Amino acid sequence: CGIVAIVSHAPVAPLIVDALKRLEYRGYDSAGVATVDQGALGRRRAEGKLINLERRLAAEPLDGSIGIGHTRWATHGVPNETNAHPHFSNGVAIVHNGIIENFAALRDELRRDGYAFSSQTDTEVVAHLVARELAKGIEPVAAAHNALRRLEGAFALAIMFEGDDNLIVGARNGPPLAIGHGNNEMFLGSDAIALAPFTDSITYLEDGDWVVVRRDEARIFDIDGQPVERTRQQSIGTS
Ligand code: GLU
Repeated sequence: CGIVAIVSHAPVAPLIVDALKRLEYRGYDSAGVATVDQGALGRRRAEGKLINLERRLAAEPLDGSIGIGHTRWATHGVPNETNAHPHFSNGVAIVHNGIIENFAALRDELRRDGYAFSSQTDTEVVAHLVARELAKGIEPVAAAHNALRRLEGAFALAIMFEGDDNLIVGARNGPPLAIGHGNNEMFLGSDAIALAPFTDSITYLEDGDWVVVRRDEARIFDIDGQPVERTRQQSIGTS
């Protein structure tokens, strides 16, 4: 399973699929990609191998210079297209590796607040949590931070917002997540191998870190919202 996210200035969907291929060795049962194109969220998902997702994208291309992608190893909910990531809620798009341990309590709480679930995944609670913060008038970065504070378990996450083609929030608590620093473009990936075609300038998040990624910056914070510095390195074995 794996995560890729790219903020760039050219169409990203093909790049995301390429990067996901480099994560195939981690195993997966389905895959998906979402972009923001002219403000609107779009996604393509497919059960099975990445070739199925590629066929979907060939038939119905996704434009947009910002996007998130995922290969899923199902833990909660069968492997099918409906449970494949990215998951959406009211203009929020999310990919997740790992397990949200307190998802059942969060799901009950969100259902009481009127949020309907369209998948069987634990992941979908995160999308609704962020959307619920946005609905209170909270801006996207703070909304993501507030949602992250509610999560228990192991996760790597990437969150993207309708109407914003220059913002991805990433988070790590368990499964790895690396920032790839490009030239006026920025990347997130489960490892440096995924990002090797794009950049060899890598910063690994530590557990509890989350990051605000834009084309020209990646600002890392701890769970209390304090800025933290992590060492940027030249990753080994990249071209
Ligand atoms: N727990 C999530 C799900 O079942 C994410 C699984 C993964 O790590 O790919 O959808």
